[in-house]
Amino acid sequence: MCFLWPIGLSLSASTLPSVILINCDDLGYGDLACYGAPDIRTPHLDRMAREGTRFTDFSVTSPLCTPSRAALMTGKYPGRTGLATGVLRPDATTGLAGSEITLAEIVKPRGYATGCIGKWHLGFKPGMRPLDQGFDSYYGVLHNLDKFETVVFEKEGGMPVLRGDTVEKRPAVPAEMTELYTAEALAFITANRARPFFLYLAHAMPHIPFDASPRFKGKSARGLYGDAVEELDDSTGRILDRLRQLGLAERTLVIFTSDNGPERNTPGTAFPLRGTKHTVYEGGLRVPFLAWWPGRVPAGRVCEEEISALDILPTLARLAENPALPAGLDGFDISPVLLGAKDARSPRSTLYSLYGLRQNRRESFREGRWKLHLGPPPELYDLTADPGESRNVAAQHAAIVERLTARARATREDTGIPATNP
Ligand code: MG
Repeated sequence: MCFLWPIGLSLSASTLPSVILINCDDLGYGDLACYGAPDIRTPHLDRMAREGTRFTDFSVTSPLCTPSRAALMTGKYPGRTGLATGVLRPDATTGLAGSEITLAEIVKPRGYATGCIGKWHLGFKPGMRPLDQGFDSYYGVLHNLDKFETVVFEKEGGMPVLRGDTVEKRPAVPAEMTELYTAEALAFITANRARPFFLYLAHAMPHIPFDASPRFKGKSARGLYGDAVEELDDSTGRILDRLRQLGLAERTLVIFTSDNGPERNTPGTAFPLRGTKHTVYEGGLRVPFLAWWPGRVPAGRVCEEEISALDILPTLARLAENPALPAGLDGFDISPVLLGAKDARSPRSTLYSLYGLRQNRRESFREGRWKLHLGPPPELYDLTADPGESRNVAAQHAAIVERLTARARATREDTGIPATNP
């Protein structure tokens, strides 16, 4: 088939899909109605799941913000970028090196407009910020909004909300963040309607201190936490509506997910999975993942294939038709699974996970149905029979324990995990 295009207009660039990656902060596997929550109403996300695909086995590499985001943004285990342990506080001098290829930098050479809205958490010094990492624009609070950050910025009049590298507003108010970010996202989509774009929308919610705007406060059956999630649902509904209104729905992939499981001692839940953020049980690592692209991502599908945040970068590279992948990737192109190609299976069968904060370390290695927690003592679970990790079968499967321990150690060494946490 042959098309005639005006000289200077790239055929492929004009037909490349736009991508919106919505990353919530500490949203649990069991926090959306379409993942079984009985007490939080998420009609827009439930509709997104009906019109698209709901994945039941998407995992991040680390149950902690900074390492999880480093892996998402680069397609590499966080040890390879020096961000495997700890979280970055506003006074951090380390971060994601400018030489790393990010999601934005993988699509930008293909003519994409790139926007970052919300929590970055991958470095705050010049050279490490979103504008230095392939994003044309940035709006948001670079880090958390909790007590560590509040203290750091007290004398300056409160936590800054940046536009680009300039302070636009102080202080950042938790109850306002979802509305501020949603308005920015809608403006970005409208402004870039005529070209392919990549929008990374990294919400502040429902990370502590979770809060909601007056329209949502006191409305959910799970208290203020549920109110914050219901506002995220409304935000996503407005974004999908805007795409429909602008005629962009059939050329935009929208992903809705989270950076790790729910915080301990909050109303957030990973039910029916075990564990929370700060653990490498499934509840810390496995999070909601909805994909929506009318006409391309199958509608009404529940997909149980094992996929990971590591796989997003190579998949975006494929969708944007950029064959120049960075060296040393740990992710796979999962576009055949995403787009429902006949008999497509995920190329992923293993996942190494590390948690390291202060004195604590937790480590796991998954190989298909088997999930090993290195311990000591080691715990082995059969995720197919026991997704809630309730029956430790390590004693009955010594050979599997030995094999997965060796593979975990090899991954730890290969990815340059430091001997101690910072
Ligand atoms: Mg988080």
